[in-house]
Amino acid sequence: MKNPYIAKKHWEYELPPLSRTDEMSKRYDDIINLSVGDPDYPADKTCLDLMYQDALAGHTRYTEYYGDPELREETIKMYKEDYGVDVAMNELLITAGGTHALYVVMQTILDPGDEVIAIAPYYTYYKDQVEMADGKLVVYNAPADKRFDVELDELEKLVNSRTKAIIVNSPCNPSGKVYSRENLKGIMDLAEKYDFLVIADDIYGALNYTDNKMPLCTYEEKPNRVITVYSYSKDFSATGVRLGHIIARSDIIDAALNVCGGVTFTICSFSQRFGVHALRRRKEIQAGLRAEYQKRMLYAYERISKLNNVKCFYPEGTFYIFADIRETGISSMDMWDKILDEARVLVLPGDGFGEAGKGYIRICCTVSVDVLKEAFDRLERMDIFK
Ligand code: PMP
Repeated sequence: MKNPYIAKKHWEYELPPLSRTDEMSKRYDDIINLSVGDPDYPADKTCLDLMYQDALAGHTRYTEYYGDPELREETIKMYKEDYGVDVAMNELLITAGGTHALYVVMQTILDPGDEVIAIAPYYTYYKDQVEMADGKLVVYNAPADKRFDVELDELEKLVNSRTKAIIVNSPCNPSGKVYSRENLKGIMDLAEKYDFLVIADDIYGALNYTDNKMPLCTYEEKPNRVITVYSYSKDFSATGVRLGHIIARSDIIDAALNVCGGVTFTICSFSQRFGVHALRRRKEIQAGLRAEYQKRMLYAYERISKLNNVKCFYPEGTFYIFADIRETGISSMDMWDKILDEARVLVLPGDGFGEAGKGYIRICCTVSVDVLKEAFDRLERMDIFK
């Protein structure tokens, strides 16, 4: 819409489907909301208590620009202990979560017209983040019928002299996919061959139910081509704490620090204290939440397998089930309303995640098995799934 008070680049802006969920969630009183990826699992109380004590003790001021030094030390320790990767203090920048980290990365690496490849189905906001940095998102549609595996020769066709980076999100939102080692190695080889960066969106790292748990940063000895984006939102069930980090070569981190300076200056000091305690307690915290989400995912998978006209893959990671509804002959946008109106269950249409998401719906297992049971009992009663 034309508006002299708003920059022209926003005039054509279309809100993503996710933005309709607020309005849709008020349509009925008895809705089960499985639309937004905001985990119900509580943030760890010990960490919250320790964070509070730290705040009372004075951690309420600006921190160092790269982040709280203790948090940076703990982060480096974690990468060494868990993955054997060496990260130096100047290769790490603390951020206000994954969204902020991705925004900062795009602003740091992109010149106008530079291209970033995303593997669809992909996280909705990648497009905005690339475009806000005047870049262009180039979408590789992973084939649904090959379980969204990346066909490397097809991917290679999208690479050109403007390709600056590819984003790899494994485990993936929305598909729940964990890319195979061969796929990840193949992507790294392409990046090497054509000299582009690999942005590893590792925000679901702890919610990986496969044996292939090594993040992309382990594919090189020290940060070089891979830019790791991390968040405490899902791995520590702390979406509101708004904490994450970027790991990259020191020249990229220095430039990112400049961007951060103008966006956030420093990051919330007591959130960073939450991070210190969370990393120290990570094994215990993550074992609990991983077991809970895996249980829910398996439950949802079994219930979906019994519905007619719907199928999904065996859960590999995250808390999202990406269900294929193409056999119903109904578009995912229409199915979104139909499921809400007939079953009072709110999901998300796959369309918001790129072309490859068409004909899919995303179901968030962010409620207990009891609530999931009620949701699937309702879906089972719909004629289309009988
Ligand atoms: N990347 C992916 C793939 C996500 O799903 C999300 C959140 N849903 C983010 C990044 C950003 O998360 P946050 O800003 O809460 O860290």
